[in-house]
Amino acid sequence: MIRFFNTLTGQEEEFQPLHAGEVRIYTCGPTVYDYAHIGNFRAFVFEDLLRRFLEFTGYQVRHVMNITDVDDKTIAGAIRNGKALNDYTEFYIKSFQDDLNTLHILTPTKQPRATQEISCAGGMIELIRELIHKGIAYESEGSVYYRVAAFPGYGKLSKKKLEENIQGARVDVDEYDKEEAADFVLWKKAKEGEPSWDSPWGKGRPGWHIECSSMSMKYLGETFDIHAGGEDLIFPHHENEIAQSEAATGKPFVRYWLHCKFLLVDGHKMSKSKGNFYTLRDLLAKGYDPMALRFALLGTHYRTPLNFTLDGLKEASEAIRKLDDCYFQCLSYAGTIGVKQDFAAKAETVPLKMFLDQILGKMLAHLSADLNISAAFAELFDAVREINKAVAQGAADEMNMKAALEFIQGIDRLFGLDIARSDAVPQEVSDLFRERKEVRYDPQFKRDKMLQQKSDELRKRIESLGWLVKDARPGEPSTLKEKRRVWDK
Ligand code: AMP
Ligand code: ZN
Repeated sequence: MIRFFNTLTGQEEEFQPLHAGEVRIYTCGPTVYDYAHIGNFRAFVFEDLLRRFLEFTGYQVRHVMNITDVDDKTIAGAIRNGKALNDYTEFYIKSFQDDLNTLHILTPTKQPRATQEISCAGGMIELIRELIHKGIAYESEGSVYYRVAAFPGYGKLSKKKLEENIQGARVDVDEYDKEEAADFVLWKKAKEGEPSWDSPWGKGRPGWHIECSSMSMKYLGETFDIHAGGEDLIFPHHENEIAQSEAATGKPFVRYWLHCKFLLVDGHKMSKSKGNFYTLRDLLAKGYDPMALRFALLGTHYRTPLNFTLDGLKEASEAIRKLDDCYFQCLSYAGTIGVKQDFAAKAETVPLKMFLDQILGKMLAHLSADLNISAAFAELFDAVREINKAVAQGAADEMNMKAALEFIQGIDRLFGLDIARSDAVPQEVSDLFRERKEVRYDPQFKRDKMLQQKSDELRKRIESLGWLVKDARPGEPSTLKEKRRVWDK
């Protein structure tokens, strides 16, 4: 049984999708006026874990993530840079896709762009018209506003008591600096020099909240399973999405709302406006492995704030290294890596498969409890210790190594850490490796300086091709490992 903490009900609940075997998820995507920072990626990595976990347990997931390519900030950025809005955002959309790939975040099933969803069928204008038709929205001087007082459920997500505050004041900026209920904008009248679209109310552009209501319902249905994002989106963004969607359709909008807590720097939210941020690119330039960052972002439960430090990132690098060493050691022992090695298992075979199946079962049980990642990772490193022990005890036979490799491949599907990235060594590397092995197996090797030099040379050549050799004790196979960053020097 899978359980998630639902922001809407304020408690952990059993998860049951609306359509058997299928889960429909909407996650609020980036506003593409700049590179995303790693605080944003905490949210995207958490959502990716959610998706991977559901897929791993057998669900088909339909995941929609929007791209906000029109709002105050994108328009300001385009004007500042003297570019058309589309040209300006295109660059950051592309960068965002690259970052998703680098961090092994699965590509969403659909990534609608706000600017392409304004006047189409089932688009934003249609939704706004429906709200006006129902008396929930009203036009005023070329803009359209949502009448908050007309929706009795307003505040049910954020648990804000709004009755006293509802003044009918209008807020037409996308960002709110005060948390008070106010009629919010659905359609903004165009300002001089700004990009605009035709509408029944004249030229203008949609508000941020209507974008997400419209795109989520268009691609996932009027009621869908999960809506996720960072905690800053609970109010007003998601509260307003509920108000818009439910007032228009008369149906429940989303069944489970999941929100991750902030990534913090020295106790403060990482954000562009505070200037206390790292982008993924900043960290790559410092030599960090993107998978170490992914591990660091995943490693703290999503409902606990994550205090980001470079020391924490170094620890995450170590964790990745442990997983990596374990995998390549198994590959080398199994002979899958293209260099079949001969060695005799010394001890009674330990049945790793049964043990690893049990561990995987426990990990899935932990993740089923509102994505308890810390407990799942603790099990994972127990498994790594057990595999390493089996190898050290001489129980690295074909069956055990196959079980270990399958386990790690499964873990990769679940956590996306790119451990099982290669199982084939390029021919050239494998030839050099074999040649080196022969040199080292020469009975004269220990005494013959020439042979030792040759062995070192061959190691260097293998390294220059991006692979590392780790020598084992006599009679055991050396390990070949594909290089990662930083530590593989
Ligand atoms: P934005 O591009 O600002 O619309 O944000 C994209 C996603 O990142 C949203 O889900 C935000 O809630 C989330 N987010 C922004 N800053 C942080 C942070 N410091 N920690 C965690 N999530 C964040
Ligand atoms: Zn949204």
